[in-house]
Amino acid sequence: MAQLRTIILDGDPILREQAIEVRRFSSALHKLLDDMKFTMYHENGVGLAAPQIGVSKQLVVIDDREGGFVELVNPQIIEAKGCEEGVEFCLSVPGRGGRVLRAAQIKVKAQDRFGKPFTLNVSGQRARVFQHEIDHLQGKLFTDVMTEEFFGESGEEPEDRGKRGTGAKERD
Ligand code: ZN
Repeated sequence: MAQLRTIILDGDPILREQAIEVRRFSSALHKLLDDMKFTMYHENGVGLAAPQIGVSKQLVVIDDREGGFVELVNPQIIEAKGCEEGVEFCLSVPGRGGRVLRAAQIKVKAQDRFGKPFTLNVSGQRARVFQHEIDHLQGKLFTDVMTEEFFGESGEEPEDRGKRGTGAKERD
């Protein structure tokens, strides 16, 4: 059964490490991916990378609510086009948001939980989530690449928005 994992917060050095490539597609890997999925949904996130639960491996789970659920093992962005600005949040950086420029369309190469390779073309908000999560595998946080801090449309504190529930689903 999948277990809830603790989210590692900004300041922990594991979030700054280059995550290790996965080579063994074992039942232990499947359990880890199941835990990541369970934890992402529990935290109401749209994506989660393994370093965020303290595991330095190249694993990402995503469910941006529009494109559905996907698991990525050893993901790599192999093409990127266009540029879009949007606001991002992160489960590992609670209470903060920021504007980040991301490619509008990307092509991602990855493996599934059995090691089978596949490629995906994604765009818009889904492409943003993919780029945010893949950054986690390289020890990068959105706060490193944001163009400015985001304080909400009316200047309110992000914490207050979180309490009302809006914005929380965008964290990843
Ligand atoms: Zn994040």
